[in-house]
Amino acid sequence: MPWPPASTLLAPLAPWFEASRRDLPWRAGDLEAPHPDPYAVLVSELMLQQTQVATVIPYFKRWMDRFPTPQDLAEADEDTVHKAWEGLGYYRRARFLKAAANCIASEGWPGDLEGLAGLPGLGPYTAAAVGSIAFQWPAPALDGNAFRVLARLLLIEGDPKARAGDLRAWLAPALAAHGPSRLTQALMELGATVCAPAPACGSCPLVEGCGARLAGRTAEIPPVAKRPTPKASALWLVAMEAEGHMLLHAPAARGLLAGLWRWPALDAETIPAAGVASAASVASPAAPLVAWPGWTQIYTHRREAVSPLYLRLEARFEAAEGLCWVPAGDLSRLPLGKRDQRLRDLLATPGQALLEAPDSALLIQTLSMA
Ligand code: SF4
Repeated sequence: MPWPPASTLLAPLAPWFEASRRDLPWRAGDLEAPHPDPYAVLVSELMLQQTQVATVIPYFKRWMDRFPTPQDLAEADEDTVHKAWEGLGYYRRARFLKAAANCIASEGWPGDLEGLAGLPGLGPYTAAAVGSIAFQWPAPALDGNAFRVLARLLLIEGDPKARAGDLRAWLAPALAAHGPSRLTQALMELGATVCAPAPACGSCPLVEGCGARLAGRTAEIPPVAKRPTPKASALWLVAMEAEGHMLLHAPAARGLLAGLWRWPALDAETIPAAGVASAASVASPAAPLVAWPGWTQIYTHRREAVSPLYLRLEARFEAAEGLCWVPAGDLSRLPLGKRDQRLRDLLATPGQALLEAPDSALLIQTLSMA
């Protein structure tokens, strides 16, 4: 059955959004005009990928204070940028944002959707979101929330992303009719607040035309994709200090952890806990191993059982490749990922001597050049 026209089916969204939209710091008051600060829209869109609104708000505010314009961001160094992003995760977004700011600072904002999509890190979704929200271009932006709403509304079987092209073509006239910024944000807002995975259909402005609701199938549309079982591992996360310096991995140039400093993390299966740790049992430490209760660090595809340790040595040793001794006073200004921040925070709290500990000599040997 052909889909009803989008501009008719989605018409109730516009007044609903005007009445119930959340007051978010990146949102413009005037939904008819281009956004007064497209950079704020770009920052918010990148921060909101994979991250909840409530988490993003304080980061967004600090970011805009720290880097109020693309020029300010373009002039900042990588460590400063990563430090400002610290805790948000998916640090590639920070690097993309800086690279996009470099382009905008030197060449200005692109004049069309193709130009926006050519900025570093802006895929079709982000380009369309910025194009519609910041510039009022009628570019359909389909994020996970929008796909869920439209799948239910139009009773789409299977993965709605497979119909992305059809959905964009269907949606475009509605953007033109109701305002690109207004309708794009309204659709996202409905998916985030009402048509959530467990929908609140009683509060939905689209309830009368919703196919899944009329068919009693809101629980099964869209189908939930099965996630692979995360891989489990166990590791010692080691803060080693000697002569006022801490041993850290320098940031990688590429990959998921690019730009982040890291504590050495050693596989607990290769270096097992063995017996009672004491100053006498290790190579040359000035104090025994100190530990804190561990935790499970959850990533998209893996789970790590993290056991945090601290070991103070009398003298530095020649560190293995990729590791370096950093002045302990610099630790607070270096960008660290979430797991590693947690150990940095623990260093300020009292730990306890370990009963079952890895062999410190083996730790040192593993982390040294020898
Ligand atoms: S009626 Fe229910 S399922 Fe349909 S769009 Fe609204 S909240 Fe979603």
